[in-house]
Amino acid sequence: MEDTRKDILNEETKEEVVSRNFIEQIIDEDLKEGKAKEICTRFPPEPNGYLHIGHAKSILLNYGLAQQYGGKFNMRFDDTNPTKEKEEFVNSILEDIKWLGADWEDRLYFASDYFPQMYEAAITLIKKGKAYVCDLTADEIREYRGTLTEPGKNSPYRERSVEENLKLFEEMKDGKYADGEKVLRAKIDMASPNMNMRDPVIYRVAHIAHHRTGDQWCIYPMYDFAHPIEDAIEGVTHSICTLEFEDHRPLYDWVVNEVGGYDPKPRQIEFAKLYLTNIVTGKRYIKKLVEEGIVDGWDDPRLVSIAGLRRRGFTPSSIQKFVDLCGVSKSNSAVDYAMLEYCIREDLKMDASRVMAILDPIRLVIDNYPEGQIEELEIDNNVENPALGKRMVPFGRELYIEREDFMEVPPKKYRRLYPGNEVRLMNAYFVTCTEVEKDASGNIIAVHCTYDPESRGGNSPDGRKVRGTIHWVEANSAIPATVRLYENIIDEEKGVYNVEDGSLNLNPNSLTVCADCKLEPSLKTAKAYDSFQFVRNGFFCVDSKDSTEDALVFNRIVSLKSSYKLPAQQ
Ligand code: ATP
Ligand code: MG
Repeated sequence: MEDTRKDILNEETKEEVVSRNFIEQIIDEDLKEGKAKEICTRFPPEPNGYLHIGHAKSILLNYGLAQQYGGKFNMRFDDTNPTKEKEEFVNSILEDIKWLGADWEDRLYFASDYFPQMYEAAITLIKKGKAYVCDLTADEIREYRGTLTEPGKNSPYRERSVEENLKLFEEMKDGKYADGEKVLRAKIDMASPNMNMRDPVIYRVAHIAHHRTGDQWCIYPMYDFAHPIEDAIEGVTHSICTLEFEDHRPLYDWVVNEVGGYDPKPRQIEFAKLYLTNIVTGKRYIKKLVEEGIVDGWDDPRLVSIAGLRRRGFTPSSIQKFVDLCGVSKSNSAVDYAMLEYCIREDLKMDASRVMAILDPIRLVIDNYPEGQIEELEIDNNVENPALGKRMVPFGRELYIEREDFMEVPPKKYRRLYPGNEVRLMNAYFVTCTEVEKDASGNIIAVHCTYDPESRGGNSPDGRKVRGTIHWVEANSAIPATVRLYENIIDEEKGVYNVEDGSLNLNPNSLTVCADCKLEPSLKTAKAYDSFQFVRNGFFCVDSKDSTEDALVFNRIVSLKSSYKLPAQQ
Protein backbone atom coordinates (compact mmCIF):
# COMPACT_ATOMS: atom_id res chain seq x y z
CA MET A 1 0.00 0.00 0.00
CA GLU A 2 1.34 3.34 -0.96
CA ASP A 3 -0.38 6.45 0.23
CA THR A 4 0.38 9.23 -2.14
CA ARG A 5 -1.67 11.74 -0.13
CA LYS A 6 0.57 12.42 2.80
CA ASP A 7 -0.23 15.38 4.92
CA ILE A 8 2.65 17.78 4.76
CA LEU A 9 3.35 21.19 6.15
CA ASN A 10 3.79 24.02 3.75
CA GLU A 11 7.12 25.58 4.84
CA GLU A 12 6.14 29.15 4.03
CA THR A 13 2.60 29.42 5.23
CA LYS A 14 2.90 26.72 7.89
CA GLU A 15 -0.46 25.56 6.69
CA GLU A 16 -1.16 21.94 6.37
CA VAL A 17 -1.53 20.98 2.75
CA VAL A 18 -2.49 17.64 1.37
CA SER A 19 -0.12 16.48 -1.31
CA ARG A 20 -1.86 15.50 -4.51
CA ASN A 21 -1.98 11.94 -5.69
CA PHE A 22 -0.61 11.32 -9.17
CA ILE A 23 -4.02 11.47 -10.82
CA GLU A 24 -4.79 14.83 -9.23
CA GLN A 25 -1.41 16.07 -10.41
CA ILE A 26 -2.24 15.07 -13.97
CA ILE A 27 -5.63 16.77 -13.78
CA ASP A 28 -4.12 19.93 -12.27
CA GLU A 29 -1.65 20.06 -15.13
CA ASP A 30 -4.31 19.46 -17.79
CA LEU A 31 -6.47 22.22 -16.38
CA LYS A 32 -3.51 24.58 -16.24
CA GLU A 33 -2.56 23.87 -19.82
CA GLY A 34 -6.14 24.23 -20.96
CA LYS A 35 -6.36 20.65 -22.19
CA ALA A 36 -9.60 20.35 -20.28
CA LYS A 37 -11.94 23.03 -19.06
CA GLU A 38 -14.33 21.05 -16.96
CA ILE A 39 -13.32 17.57 -15.97
CA CYS A 40 -15.52 14.57 -16.60
CA THR A 41 -14.89 11.08 -15.21
CA ARG A 42 -16.86 7.90 -15.55
CA PHE A 43 -17.37 4.51 -13.99
CA PRO A 44 -17.77 1.93 -16.78
CA PRO A 45 -18.67 -1.52 -15.45
CA GLU A 46 -19.48 -4.41 -17.69
CA PRO A 47 -22.86 -5.75 -16.50
CA ASN A 48 -21.58 -9.31 -16.20
CA GLY A 49 -21.60 -9.70 -12.43
CA TYR A 50 -22.02 -7.87 -9.15
CA LEU A 51 -19.65 -5.14 -8.05
CA HIS A 52 -17.02 -5.77 -5.42
CA ILE A 53 -14.80 -3.75 -3.10
CA GLY A 54 -12.32 -3.14 -5.94
CA HIS A 55 -15.05 -1.51 -7.98
CA ALA A 56 -15.96 0.59 -4.95
CA LYS A 57 -12.47 2.01 -5.08
CA SER A 58 -12.88 2.92 -8.74
CA ILE A 59 -16.36 4.39 -8.20
CA LEU A 60 -15.36 6.52 -5.24
CA LEU A 61 -12.18 7.64 -6.97
CA ASN A 62 -13.97 8.73 -10.14
CA TYR A 63 -16.91 10.27 -8.33
CA GLY A 64 -14.62 11.92 -5.78
CA LEU A 65 -12.50 13.56 -8.47
CA ALA A 66 -15.57 14.89 -10.26
CA GLN A 67 -16.81 16.36 -6.98
CA GLN A 68 -13.48 17.77 -6.01
CA TYR A 69 -13.00 19.56 -9.35
CA GLY A 70 -16.63 20.62 -9.75
CA GLY A 71 -16.88 18.38 -12.81
CA LYS A 72 -19.15 15.64 -14.01
CA PHE A 73 -19.41 11.96 -13.22
CA ASN A 74 -20.90 9.57 -15.76
CA MET A 75 -22.34 6.21 -14.98
CA ARG A 76 -21.88 4.09 -18.06
CA PHE A 77 -22.51 0.45 -18.72
CA ASP A 78 -19.85 -0.96 -20.96
CA ASP A 79 -22.25 -3.43 -22.48
CA THR A 80 -20.59 -4.17 -25.79
CA ASN A 81 -20.08 -7.90 -25.23
CA PRO A 82 -23.51 -9.56 -25.10
CA THR A 83 -22.24 -13.04 -24.18
CA LYS A 84 -22.15 -12.56 -20.43
CA GLU A 85 -24.26 -9.47 -19.83
CA LYS A 86 -27.60 -9.45 -18.08
CA GLU A 87 -30.29 -7.03 -16.94
CA GLU A 88 -30.05 -8.45 -13.40
CA PHE A 89 -26.50 -7.15 -13.21
CA VAL A 90 -27.45 -3.71 -14.52
CA ASN A 91 -29.93 -3.33 -11.68
CA SER A 92 -27.67 -4.60 -8.95
CA ILE A 93 -24.85 -2.35 -10.11
CA LEU A 94 -27.04 0.75 -10.02
CA GLU A 95 -28.31 -0.17 -6.57
CA ASP A 96 -24.78 -0.64 -5.27
CA ILE A 97 -23.48 2.63 -6.68
CA LYS A 98 -26.43 4.54 -5.28
CA TRP A 99 -25.85 2.97 -1.90
CA LEU A 100 -22.18 3.97 -1.97
CA GLY A 101 -23.34 7.53 -2.47
CA ALA A 102 -21.92 8.21 -5.94
CA ASP A 103 -24.58 10.32 -7.65
CA TRP A 104 -24.59 10.24 -11.46
CA GLU A 105 -27.65 12.54 -11.53
CA ASP A 106 -29.06 12.26 -15.06
CA ARG A 107 -25.82 10.98 -16.55
CA LEU A 108 -26.61 7.31 -16.98
CA TYR A 109 -25.36 5.88 -20.25
CA PHE A 110 -25.15 2.59 -22.07
CA ALA A 111 -22.33 1.93 -24.50
CA SER A 112 -24.78 -0.11 -26.59
CA ASP A 113 -26.59 3.16 -27.38
CA TYR A 114 -23.47 4.16 -29.30
CA PHE A 115 -23.42 1.14 -31.62
CA PRO A 116 -24.46 3.33 -34.57
CA GLN A 117 -21.67 5.84 -33.86
CA MET A 118 -19.16 3.04 -33.44
CA TYR A 119 -20.21 1.58 -36.75
CA GLU A 120 -19.74 5.00 -38.33
CA ALA A 121 -16.34 5.36 -36.69
CA ALA A 122 -15.31 2.03 -38.21
CA ILE A 123 -16.40 3.28 -41.62
CA THR A 124 -14.35 6.43 -41.10
CA LEU A 125 -11.30 4.28 -40.45
CA ILE A 126 -11.97 2.11 -43.51
CA LYS A 127 -12.31 5.19 -45.69
CA LYS A 128 -9.02 6.53 -44.36
CA GLY A 129 -7.38 3.22 -45.24
CA LYS A 130 -6.91 2.57 -41.52
CA ALA A 131 -9.03 -0.55 -41.19
CA TYR A 132 -9.63 -3.67 -43.25
CA VAL A 133 -11.77 -6.75 -43.28
CA CYS A 134 -9.70 -9.85 -42.62
CA ASP A 135 -10.65 -13.47 -43.34
CA LEU A 136 -7.98 -15.13 -41.24
CA THR A 137 -9.28 -17.40 -38.50
CA ALA A 138 -8.69 -16.49 -34.85
CA ASP A 139 -5.85 -19.03 -34.73
CA GLU A 140 -4.26 -17.66 -37.86
CA ILE A 141 -4.49 -14.11 -36.56
CA ARG A 142 -2.67 -15.23 -33.44
CA GLU A 143 -0.03 -16.97 -35.52
CA TYR A 144 0.50 -13.94 -37.75
CA ARG A 145 0.76 -11.64 -34.75
CA GLY A 146 4.31 -12.77 -33.91
CA THR A 147 5.75 -12.70 -30.43
CA LEU A 148 7.34 -10.22 -28.06
CA THR A 149 10.70 -10.93 -29.72
CA GLU A 150 9.54 -11.41 -33.31
CA PRO A 151 7.55 -9.04 -35.47
CA GLY A 152 4.25 -10.18 -36.91
CA LYS A 153 3.41 -10.83 -40.55
CA ASN A 154 0.94 -8.83 -42.58
CA SER A 155 -2.37 -10.48 -43.24
CA PRO A 156 -2.92 -11.42 -46.90
CA TYR A 157 -6.14 -9.36 -46.70
CA ARG A 158 -4.41 -6.21 -45.47
CA GLU A 159 -4.28 -4.51 -48.84
CA ARG A 160 -7.93 -4.85 -49.75
CA SER A 161 -9.30 -1.71 -51.38
CA VAL A 162 -11.40 0.77 -49.48
CA GLU A 163 -14.41 -0.11 -51.64
CA GLU A 164 -14.05 -3.83 -51.01
CA ASN A 165 -13.64 -3.23 -47.27
CA LEU A 166 -16.72 -1.02 -47.16
CA LYS A 167 -18.74 -3.65 -48.99
CA LEU A 168 -17.52 -6.53 -46.84
CA PHE A 169 -18.01 -4.64 -43.58
CA GLU A 170 -21.56 -3.80 -44.58
CA GLU A 171 -22.14 -7.46 -45.38
CA MET A 172 -20.78 -8.36 -41.95
CA LYS A 173 -23.33 -6.02 -40.47
CA ASP A 174 -26.09 -7.46 -42.64
CA GLY A 175 -25.51 -10.95 -41.32
CA LYS A 176 -23.96 -12.48 -44.38
CA TYR A 177 -21.13 -14.14 -42.44
CA ALA A 178 -20.98 -16.63 -39.65
CA ASP A 179 -19.30 -15.91 -36.31
CA GLY A 180 -15.54 -15.80 -36.81
CA GLU A 181 -15.70 -15.86 -40.60
CA LYS A 182 -14.55 -12.27 -40.95
CA VAL A 183 -13.34 -9.51 -38.64
CA LEU A 184 -12.54 -5.86 -39.04
CA ARG A 185 -9.00 -4.97 -38.04
CA ALA A 186 -7.26 -1.68 -37.48
CA LYS A 187 -4.36 -1.21 -39.89
CA ILE A 188 -1.53 -0.06 -37.68
CA ASP A 189 1.81 -1.84 -37.58
CA MET A 190 2.48 -5.58 -37.54
CA ALA A 191 6.03 -4.92 -36.39
CA SER A 192 5.13 -2.67 -33.46
CA PRO A 193 6.94 -3.61 -30.25
CA ASN A 194 3.53 -3.20 -28.60
CA MET A 195 1.52 -6.31 -29.46
CA ASN A 196 -1.73 -4.40 -29.05
CA MET A 197 -0.80 -2.27 -32.04
CA ARG A 198 -0.34 -5.21 -34.39
CA ASP A 199 -3.53 -4.72 -36.37
CA PRO A 200 -5.95 -5.43 -33.51
CA VAL A 201 -9.40 -6.76 -34.25
CA ILE A 202 -11.91 -3.96 -33.71
CA TYR A 203 -15.18 -5.59 -34.82
CA ARG A 204 -16.30 -9.18 -34.83
CA VAL A 205 -19.32 -11.07 -36.07
CA ALA A 206 -21.41 -12.55 -33.24
CA HIS A 207 -24.93 -13.72 -33.84
CA ILE A 208 -26.01 -13.24 -30.24
CA ALA A 209 -28.95 -11.24 -28.94
CA HIS A 210 -27.97 -8.27 -26.82
CA HIS A 211 -29.83 -7.58 -23.57
CA ARG A 212 -30.73 -4.09 -24.81
CA THR A 213 -30.44 -4.01 -28.59
CA GLY A 214 -31.83 -7.49 -29.17
CA ASP A 215 -31.06 -8.82 -32.67
CA GLN A 216 -30.45 -5.41 -34.17
CA TRP A 217 -26.73 -6.07 -34.45
CA CYS A 218 -24.76 -9.15 -35.33
CA ILE A 219 -21.42 -7.36 -35.25
CA TYR A 220 -20.01 -6.06 -32.00
CA PRO A 221 -17.05 -3.75 -31.37
CA MET A 222 -14.06 -4.95 -29.33
CA TYR A 223 -13.26 -3.27 -26.02
CA ASP A 224 -10.15 -1.44 -27.24
CA PHE A 225 -12.09 0.19 -30.04
CA ALA A 226 -15.35 0.78 -28.21
CA HIS A 227 -14.02 2.21 -24.97
CA PRO A 228 -12.19 5.30 -26.30
CA ILE A 229 -15.17 6.09 -28.51
CA GLU A 230 -17.57 5.82 -25.57
CA ASP A 231 -15.37 8.16 -23.56
CA ALA A 232 -14.98 10.58 -26.44
CA ILE A 233 -18.70 10.71 -27.24
CA GLU A 234 -19.52 11.53 -23.64
CA GLY A 235 -16.84 14.18 -23.28
CA VAL A 236 -15.00 12.23 -20.63
CA THR A 237 -11.71 14.03 -20.01
CA HIS A 238 -9.96 11.58 -17.72
CA SER A 239 -10.64 7.93 -18.32
CA ILE A 240 -9.30 6.13 -15.28
CA CYS A 241 -8.72 2.41 -15.56
CA THR A 242 -6.50 -0.21 -13.98
CA LEU A 243 -2.88 -1.04 -14.72
CA GLU A 244 -3.45 -3.98 -17.03
CA PHE A 245 -4.58 -1.45 -19.65
CA GLU A 246 -1.34 0.50 -19.63
CA ASP A 247 -0.13 -1.26 -22.79
CA HIS A 248 -3.45 -0.50 -24.44
CA ARG A 249 -3.08 3.24 -24.04
CA PRO A 250 -1.32 3.77 -27.42
CA LEU A 251 -4.24 2.02 -29.08
CA TYR A 252 -6.71 4.11 -27.08
CA ASP A 253 -5.00 7.27 -28.32
CA TRP A 254 -4.77 5.90 -31.85
CA VAL A 255 -8.53 5.32 -31.98
CA VAL A 256 -9.33 8.76 -30.59
CA ASN A 257 -7.00 10.46 -33.06
CA GLU A 258 -7.79 8.42 -36.16
CA VAL A 259 -11.55 8.53 -35.74
CA GLY A 260 -11.04 12.22 -35.06
CA GLY A 261 -13.31 15.14 -34.38
CA TYR A 262 -13.44 14.86 -30.61
CA ASP A 263 -12.97 17.85 -28.34
CA PRO A 264 -11.95 17.44 -25.59
CA LYS A 265 -9.95 14.31 -26.30
CA PRO A 266 -10.27 11.81 -23.49
CA ARG A 267 -7.10 10.74 -21.77
CA GLN A 268 -6.52 7.31 -20.24
CA ILE A 269 -4.83 7.11 -16.83
CA GLU A 270 -4.03 3.82 -15.10
CA PHE A 271 -3.87 3.04 -11.40
CA ALA A 272 -3.28 -0.15 -9.43
CA LYS A 273 -6.18 -2.50 -8.73
CA LEU A 274 -7.18 -2.99 -5.16
CA TYR A 275 -6.37 -6.46 -3.91
CA LEU A 276 -7.03 -7.86 -0.45
CA THR A 277 -4.72 -10.50 0.96
CA ASN A 278 -6.34 -13.94 0.97
CA ILE A 279 -9.70 -12.57 -0.12
CA VAL A 280 -11.60 -13.53 -3.26
CA THR A 281 -12.22 -10.27 -5.13
CA GLY A 282 -12.29 -10.97 -8.88
CA LYS A 283 -15.76 -11.05 -10.39
CA ARG A 284 -14.88 -14.32 -12.08
CA TYR A 285 -14.04 -16.03 -8.80
CA ILE A 286 -16.95 -14.60 -6.87
CA LYS A 287 -19.17 -15.86 -9.68
CA LYS A 288 -17.68 -19.32 -9.29
CA LEU A 289 -18.47 -19.37 -5.57
CA VAL A 290 -22.02 -18.31 -6.32
CA GLU A 291 -22.58 -20.74 -9.16
CA GLU A 292 -21.15 -23.69 -7.28
CA GLY A 293 -23.42 -22.93 -4.36
CA ILE A 294 -20.53 -22.45 -1.98
CA VAL A 295 -22.07 -19.17 -0.89
CA ASP A 296 -25.67 -18.06 -0.59
CA GLY A 297 -25.82 -15.80 -3.67
CA TRP A 298 -23.91 -12.68 -4.73
CA ASP A 299 -24.86 -10.93 -1.49
CA ASP A 300 -23.59 -13.63 0.84
CA PRO A 301 -22.20 -11.72 3.84
CA ARG A 302 -18.88 -13.56 3.50
CA LEU A 303 -18.21 -11.99 0.12
CA VAL A 304 -16.58 -8.65 -0.53
CA SER A 305 -19.13 -7.94 -3.23
CA ILE A 306 -20.71 -4.60 -2.41
CA ALA A 307 -24.03 -6.37 -1.90
CA GLY A 308 -22.32 -8.82 0.48
CA LEU A 309 -20.60 -6.05 2.42
CA ARG A 310 -23.89 -4.16 2.73
CA ARG A 311 -25.71 -7.26 3.94
CA ARG A 312 -22.89 -7.99 6.36
CA GLY A 313 -23.37 -4.54 7.89
CA PHE A 314 -20.64 -2.40 6.36
CA THR A 315 -21.61 1.22 5.81
CA PRO A 316 -20.86 3.45 2.83
CA SER A 317 -18.74 5.67 5.05
CA SER A 318 -16.63 2.74 6.24
CA ILE A 319 -15.92 1.83 2.63
CA GLN A 320 -15.08 5.43 1.78
CA LYS A 321 -12.70 5.53 4.71
CA PHE A 322 -11.09 2.29 3.59
CA VAL A 323 -10.62 3.50 0.04
CA ASP A 324 -9.10 6.76 1.32
CA LEU A 325 -6.67 4.84 3.52
CA CYS A 326 -5.63 2.66 0.59
CA GLY A 327 -4.66 5.68 -1.46
CA VAL A 328 -4.05 5.70 -5.19
CA SER A 329 -0.98 3.94 -6.41
CA LYS A 330 0.75 2.96 -9.60
CA SER A 331 2.04 -0.37 -8.38
CA ASN A 332 0.02 -3.44 -7.47
CA SER A 333 -0.04 -4.56 -3.87
CA ALA A 334 -2.49 -6.19 -1.51
CA VAL A 335 -4.17 -4.66 1.50
CA ASP A 336 -5.05 -6.51 4.67
CA TYR A 337 -8.75 -7.26 5.25
CA ALA A 338 -8.13 -6.13 8.84
CA MET A 339 -7.94 -2.58 7.51
CA LEU A 340 -11.49 -2.85 6.24
CA GLU A 341 -12.52 -4.20 9.64
CA TYR A 342 -10.76 -1.31 11.32
CA CYS A 343 -12.82 1.12 9.22
CA ILE A 344 -16.18 -0.36 10.14
CA ARG A 345 -15.22 -0.57 13.82
CA GLU A 346 -14.28 3.09 13.76
CA ASP A 347 -17.61 3.85 12.14
CA LEU A 348 -19.76 1.90 14.59
CA LYS A 349 -17.80 2.49 17.77
CA MET A 350 -19.63 5.69 18.56
CA ASP A 351 -22.81 5.25 16.55
CA ALA A 352 -24.00 1.80 17.50
CA SER A 353 -25.93 1.09 20.68
CA ARG A 354 -24.25 -1.38 22.99
CA VAL A 355 -26.73 -4.05 23.93
CA MET A 356 -26.68 -7.46 25.57
CA ALA A 357 -27.10 -10.66 23.61
CA ILE A 358 -26.26 -14.20 24.62
CA LEU A 359 -25.05 -16.33 21.73
CA ASP A 360 -24.75 -19.66 23.53
CA PRO A 361 -27.02 -19.44 26.56
CA ILE A 362 -27.14 -21.26 29.87
CA ARG A 363 -29.59 -20.35 32.64
CA LEU A 364 -28.47 -18.50 35.72
CA VAL A 365 -30.84 -18.57 38.70
CA ILE A 366 -30.42 -16.09 41.57
CA ASP A 367 -31.83 -18.10 44.47
CA ASN A 368 -32.16 -15.17 46.90
CA TYR A 369 -33.82 -12.82 44.40
CA PRO A 370 -37.60 -12.48 44.96
CA GLU A 371 -39.58 -14.77 42.70
CA GLY A 372 -41.75 -12.90 40.17
CA GLN A 373 -39.95 -9.61 40.70
CA ILE A 374 -38.65 -7.68 37.68
CA GLU A 375 -36.75 -4.43 37.94
CA GLU A 376 -36.02 -2.09 35.10
CA LEU A 377 -32.42 -0.95 35.05
CA GLU A 378 -31.50 2.22 33.25
CA ILE A 379 -28.50 1.60 31.01
CA ASP A 380 -26.51 3.92 28.72
CA ASN A 381 -26.91 3.04 25.07
CA ASN A 382 -23.28 3.89 24.47
CA VAL A 383 -21.13 5.08 27.36
CA GLU A 384 -18.81 6.85 24.93
CA ASN A 385 -21.63 8.70 23.24
CA PRO A 386 -24.23 10.14 25.66
CA ALA A 387 -26.18 11.53 22.71
CA LEU A 388 -27.50 8.02 22.12
CA GLY A 389 -29.40 8.23 25.40
CA LYS A 390 -30.39 5.47 27.76
CA ARG A 391 -32.78 2.53 27.74
CA MET A 392 -34.54 0.39 30.32
CA VAL A 393 -33.45 -3.23 30.56
CA PRO A 394 -35.39 -5.73 32.68
CA PHE A 395 -33.59 -7.76 35.35
CA GLY A 396 -35.03 -10.69 37.28
CA ARG A 397 -34.43 -13.93 39.12
CA GLU A 398 -33.72 -16.01 36.03
CA LEU A 399 -31.22 -14.89 33.46
CA TYR A 400 -29.22 -16.22 30.55
CA ILE A 401 -25.47 -15.95 30.46
CA GLU A 402 -22.90 -17.20 27.94
CA ARG A 403 -21.98 -20.85 28.39
CA GLU A 404 -18.32 -19.90 28.25
CA ASP A 405 -18.76 -17.50 31.18
CA PHE A 406 -19.20 -20.42 33.56
CA MET A 407 -16.78 -23.23 34.37
CA GLU A 408 -17.29 -25.89 36.92
CA VAL A 409 -13.59 -26.49 37.21
CA PRO A 410 -11.89 -23.27 36.16
CA PRO A 411 -8.36 -23.11 34.79
CA LYS A 412 -5.90 -20.72 36.45
CA LYS A 413 -6.66 -17.04 35.91
CA TYR A 414 -10.29 -17.72 34.98
CA ARG A 415 -12.16 -14.70 36.35
CA ARG A 416 -15.70 -15.44 35.39
CA LEU A 417 -18.28 -17.59 37.10
CA TYR A 418 -17.32 -20.80 38.94
CA PRO A 419 -18.52 -22.28 42.20
CA GLY A 420 -17.59 -19.95 45.03
CA ASN A 421 -16.57 -17.03 42.81
CA GLU A 422 -18.18 -13.60 42.75
CA VAL A 423 -18.58 -11.63 39.51
CA ARG A 424 -20.37 -8.51 38.35
CA LEU A 425 -23.42 -8.87 36.14
CA MET A 426 -22.84 -5.90 33.88
CA ASN A 427 -24.77 -2.81 35.03
CA ALA A 428 -26.73 -4.96 37.51
CA TYR A 429 -25.49 -6.74 40.64
CA PHE A 430 -22.66 -8.77 42.10
CA VAL A 431 -23.47 -12.48 42.18
CA THR A 432 -21.67 -15.40 43.77
CA CYS A 433 -21.93 -18.83 42.22
CA THR A 434 -23.28 -21.43 44.65
CA GLU A 435 -23.90 -24.61 42.68
CA VAL A 436 -24.57 -26.14 39.30
CA GLU A 437 -27.69 -28.13 38.50
CA LYS A 438 -27.41 -30.95 35.97
CA ASP A 439 -29.65 -33.51 34.32
CA ALA A 440 -29.08 -37.28 34.47
CA SER A 441 -26.66 -37.18 31.57
CA GLY A 442 -24.57 -34.44 33.12
CA ASN A 443 -25.79 -31.51 31.00
CA ILE A 444 -26.08 -28.21 32.79
CA ILE A 445 -29.69 -27.20 33.45
CA ALA A 446 -28.88 -24.09 35.44
CA VAL A 447 -26.14 -22.38 37.35
CA HIS A 448 -27.25 -21.12 40.75
CA CYS A 449 -26.04 -18.07 42.59
CA THR A 450 -26.92 -15.48 45.21
CA TYR A 451 -26.80 -11.75 44.72
CA ASP A 452 -25.86 -8.79 46.86
CA PRO A 453 -28.79 -6.34 46.80
CA GLU A 454 -26.40 -3.57 47.88
CA SER A 455 -24.46 -3.79 44.62
CA ARG A 456 -27.24 -2.44 42.37
CA GLY A 457 -25.91 -0.91 39.17
CA GLY A 458 -22.89 -3.16 39.39
CA ASN A 459 -21.21 -0.95 41.98
CA SER A 460 -19.30 -2.36 44.91
CA PRO A 461 -21.11 -1.59 48.19
CA ASP A 462 -18.02 -1.77 50.42
CA GLY A 463 -15.04 -1.40 48.14
CA ARG A 464 -14.67 -5.13 47.62
CA LYS A 465 -13.49 -5.96 44.18
CA VAL A 466 -14.68 -8.52 41.70
CA ARG A 467 -12.39 -9.43 38.86
CA GLY A 468 -14.88 -10.57 36.27
CA THR A 469 -17.79 -8.79 34.58
CA ILE A 470 -20.17 -10.77 32.44
CA HIS A 471 -23.23 -9.82 30.42
CA TRP A 472 -26.68 -11.33 30.79
CA VAL A 473 -30.25 -11.24 29.50
CA GLU A 474 -33.39 -11.60 31.64
CA ALA A 475 -34.92 -14.97 30.77
CA ASN A 476 -38.65 -14.27 30.58
CA SER A 477 -38.40 -11.21 28.38
CA ALA A 478 -35.51 -12.47 26.24
CA ILE A 479 -36.04 -12.57 22.48
CA PRO A 480 -34.90 -15.68 20.63
CA ALA A 481 -32.72 -15.03 17.60
CA THR A 482 -30.29 -16.59 15.20
CA VAL A 483 -26.82 -15.12 14.96
CA ARG A 484 -24.32 -15.95 12.24
CA LEU A 485 -20.60 -15.74 12.79
CA TYR A 486 -18.24 -15.59 9.85
CA GLU A 487 -14.68 -16.39 9.01
CA ASN A 488 -12.82 -15.90 5.76
CA ILE A 489 -14.22 -18.18 3.08
CA ILE A 490 -10.61 -18.93 2.16
CA ASP A 491 -8.31 -21.10 4.19
CA GLU A 492 -5.72 -18.46 5.05
CA GLU A 493 -3.03 -20.99 5.89
CA LYS A 494 -3.17 -22.33 2.36
CA GLY A 495 -3.76 -19.09 0.43
CA VAL A 496 -6.49 -18.38 -2.10
CA TYR A 497 -5.61 -20.75 -4.92
CA ASN A 498 -4.54 -24.34 -4.97
CA VAL A 499 -1.26 -24.29 -6.90
CA GLU A 500 -1.93 -27.64 -8.51
CA ASP A 501 -5.32 -27.11 -10.14
CA GLY A 502 -6.09 -23.43 -9.57
CA SER A 503 -9.13 -24.22 -7.43
CA LEU A 504 -9.96 -22.17 -4.35
CA ASN A 505 -8.75 -23.32 -0.94
CA LEU A 506 -11.94 -23.12 1.06
CA ASN A 507 -12.28 -22.77 4.80
CA PRO A 508 -14.93 -25.27 5.95
CA ASN A 509 -15.65 -23.13 9.03
CA SER A 510 -16.48 -19.88 7.29
CA LEU A 511 -20.04 -19.90 8.67
CA THR A 512 -21.17 -20.72 12.22
CA VAL A 513 -24.87 -20.48 12.97
CA CYS A 514 -25.88 -19.83 16.58
CA ALA A 515 -29.52 -20.81 16.39
CA ASP A 516 -30.52 -20.43 20.04
CA CYS A 517 -29.47 -16.90 20.98
CA LYS A 518 -31.21 -14.79 23.58
CA LEU A 519 -31.37 -11.03 23.16
CA GLU A 520 -32.45 -8.26 25.49
CA PRO A 521 -36.01 -7.10 24.65
CA SER A 522 -34.97 -3.67 23.34
CA LEU A 523 -33.88 -5.46 20.17
CA LYS A 524 -37.44 -6.50 19.39
CA THR A 525 -37.92 -3.60 16.99
CA ALA A 526 -34.58 -3.99 15.19
CA LYS A 527 -34.96 -3.67 11.43
CA ALA A 528 -32.93 -4.78 8.43
CA TYR A 529 -29.47 -3.17 8.33
CA ASP A 530 -29.69 -1.87 11.94
CA SER A 531 -26.34 -2.35 13.62
CA PHE A 532 -25.49 -2.88 17.26
CA GLN A 533 -22.57 -3.68 19.42
CA PHE A 534 -23.40 -6.87 21.31
CA VAL A 535 -21.22 -6.25 24.32
CA ARG A 536 -18.19 -8.52 24.50
CA ASN A 537 -19.21 -10.25 21.24
CA GLY A 538 -18.68 -7.74 18.46
CA PHE A 539 -20.70 -5.66 16.03
CA PHE A 540 -23.81 -7.19 14.50
CA CYS A 541 -26.30 -6.23 11.84
CA VAL A 542 -29.86 -7.39 11.20
CA ASP A 543 -29.82 -9.55 8.07
CA SER A 544 -31.81 -7.97 5.26
CA LYS A 545 -32.93 -11.23 3.68
CA ASP A 546 -33.57 -13.82 6.33
CA SER A 547 -34.62 -11.79 9.36
CA THR A 548 -38.30 -11.39 10.20
CA GLU A 549 -40.09 -9.59 13.01
CA ASP A 550 -40.70 -12.87 14.80
CA ALA A 551 -37.42 -14.55 14.01
CA LEU A 552 -34.57 -12.10 14.03
CA VAL A 553 -31.35 -13.00 12.25
CA PHE A 554 -28.13 -11.09 12.86
CA ASN A 555 -24.80 -11.21 11.05
CA ARG A 556 -21.59 -10.52 12.87
CA ILE A 557 -19.93 -7.68 11.00
CA VAL A 558 -16.70 -7.79 12.92
CA SER A 559 -15.39 -8.79 16.32
CA LEU A 560 -14.51 -6.12 18.86
CA LYS A 561 -10.78 -6.31 19.01
CA SER A 562 -8.02 -6.72 16.58
CA SER A 563 -4.31 -6.54 16.61
CA TYR A 564 -4.52 -4.35 13.51
CA LYS A 565 -2.58 -1.11 13.63
CA LEU A 566 -2.93 1.59 11.05
CA PRO A 567 0.29 2.01 9.11
CA ALA A 568 2.15 5.01 10.53
CA GLN A 569 1.66 8.18 8.54
CA GLN A 570 5.01 9.18 7.12
P1 ATP B 1 -13.04 -8.14 -12.40
O1 ATP B 1 -11.61 -8.35 -12.77
O2 ATP B 1 -13.33 -8.30 -10.97
O3 ATP B 1 -13.98 -8.88 -13.28
P2 ATP B 1 -13.34 -5.94 -14.15
O4 ATP B 1 -12.21 -4.98 -14.25
O5 ATP B 1 -13.48 -6.95 -15.22
O6 ATP B 1 -13.29 -6.61 -12.73
P3 ATP B 1 -15.35 -4.13 -15.00
O7 ATP B 1 -16.81 -4.20 -14.82
O8 ATP B 1 -14.80 -4.29 -16.35
O9 ATP B 1 -14.71 -5.20 -14.02
O10 ATP B 1 -14.72 -2.84 -14.32
C1 ATP B 1 -15.34 -1.61 -14.08
C2 ATP B 1 -14.28 -0.68 -13.56
O11 ATP B 1 -13.84 -1.07 -12.27
C3 ATP B 1 -13.05 -0.64 -14.45
O12 ATP B 1 -12.70 0.70 -14.67
C4 ATP B 1 -12.01 -1.38 -13.64
O13 ATP B 1 -10.74 -0.93 -13.93
C5 ATP B 1 -12.44 -1.10 -12.21
N1 ATP B 1 -11.98 -2.15 -11.31
C6 ATP B 1 -12.26 -3.47 -11.40
N2 ATP B 1 -11.64 -4.18 -10.42
C7 ATP B 1 -10.96 -3.27 -9.69
C8 ATP B 1 -10.11 -3.36 -8.54
N3 ATP B 1 -9.84 -4.54 -7.95
N4 ATP B 1 -9.58 -2.22 -8.04
C9 ATP B 1 -9.85 -1.04 -8.62
N5 ATP B 1 -10.63 -0.88 -9.70
C10 ATP B 1 -11.18 -1.97 -10.24
MG1 MG C 1 -14.16 -7.34 -17.01
